[in-house]
Amino acid sequence: MPADDEDRARWLPLLPAAPIRIAPPAARPAGSPPLPGGSSGAGEGFAWGVASSAFQAEGGDVPNDWVAAARAGRVPANPGNGFWERAEDDFRLVAGLGIGHYRLSIEWSRVEPEPGRFDERAIDRYRAVCDGARAAGLVPWVNLFHFTHPLWFAERGGFLDTRNHPAFLRYVERLGRALVPHAAHFHVSNESMVYVLASYFLGENPPFLRDPAAAFAMTRHVLVLHADAYRILKGLEPQPTVATIEVYLDPRAEDPADEGQRAAAARFDAWYHGTLLEALATGWIRAPQREPEEVPHLRGALDLYGLNFYSSTSFGAAGPGTFSDRPDAPRDALGRAVHPGGLEAGLLRVARALPGVPLLVTENGCPTGDETFRIRYIAAHLAALDRARRQGAPVGGYFHWTAVDNYEWRHGFGPARFGLVGFDPHTGARAVKASGRWLAEVIRDGVLDPARVP
Ligand code: BGC
Repeated sequence: MPADDEDRARWLPLLPAAPIRIAPPAARPAGSPPLPGGSSGAGEGFAWGVASSAFQAEGGDVPNDWVAAARAGRVPANPGNGFWERAEDDFRLVAGLGIGHYRLSIEWSRVEPEPGRFDERAIDRYRAVCDGARAAGLVPWVNLFHFTHPLWFAERGGFLDTRNHPAFLRYVERLGRALVPHAAHFHVSNESMVYVLASYFLGENPPFLRDPAAAFAMTRHVLVLHADAYRILKGLEPQPTVATIEVYLDPRAEDPADEGQRAAAARFDAWYHGTLLEALATGWIRAPQREPEEVPHLRGALDLYGLNFYSSTSFGAAGPGTFSDRPDAPRDALGRAVHPGGLEAGLLRVARALPGVPLLVTENGCPTGDETFRIRYIAAHLAALDRARRQGAPVGGYFHWTAVDNYEWRHGFGPARFGLVGFDPHTGARAVKASGRWLAEVIRDGVLDPARVP
């Protein structure tokens, strides 16, 4: 078989067999609430969006912990992709693809470079960014914490020291107040459990701790901070919607017959997914190695659950990796196996754990330099999303990670490019990729047609 055919044969079981109408009104599960703030695209009631984060897109010499870590040679430097200066142009470009929602975040170190000193010019810029999105016809979704801390906050011990919590809540209130007239949708943080895992358990990201006890304490702290921040944001006028965002890691035993692997996957799952879902459903935090604690205002502290998904996690003989039930599964530029079944499983799991809470895929995408790969990846995950909806998960939309190629944390600006749009690092000029044009057609037609997947 020629190499191209062989490659397509590996994707075939993951792609839809027949055209899928993306969210025609009749397919919306009974009782699933429409998304607040309207929707866009051909599929009525379905929100098409893109997601990004401030530091990854803006980069620059800001006084945060990642810039300090880059200076110390521990992570790559981040010149950014130019979003800080040209957000409005990017919004027009993205809106031109038929996309209706833009998830972005605030770089805390820009707006509060020193404790208690807020920079009004930076806050004004973020107001203008929200207005620019709306002027282009996009609904802005504002996230307040996406992995970076101002250096002063990190140096005081960040969230791990509860004496620092009021400073974070002061920032939440200040930015919430400044931005609610300009944006109707907020997130307190992106993937707080990934933050805890990568920064406190695995020691991969600042502050580079490998300390399970600290990670379990952090689990409690990020949940309490979420509840406190949710309450603050919901008290603002006009009242915004506030959604959580967590990535679904879909932990599984590499060999389902291996009891040790099953136990390892289950232990991880109970901490990583179980703690959060139980806390949001009941208000009880049961983090490992800690006394259970009831935080009543955590119960139901979300208007919408944002689920991110990239790949499934395997627990195998050689330690954790990515899971697939197919040995020949396609792999992305970072070597991760493609397994859209994990997205379906995650949506169904959350729908069961939090009945009545609307769901949104707030991130999905892949690191690749191959546009055929990206198109197939998106098609395979939209098919998984559709399967979850048909089984009753109230999924109101799909946000792609990301719009314009950006800084991929420890991988910098290497081959791990996630954008529907590329850019020239010398001139900053944007170029829509084949995947961006393909997605625009799906949105326009409201149909995912496998015959149009290369
Ligand atoms: C994070 C992004 C990151 C993406 C791709 C997500 O978990 O929210 O910041 O770029 O994964 O790795």
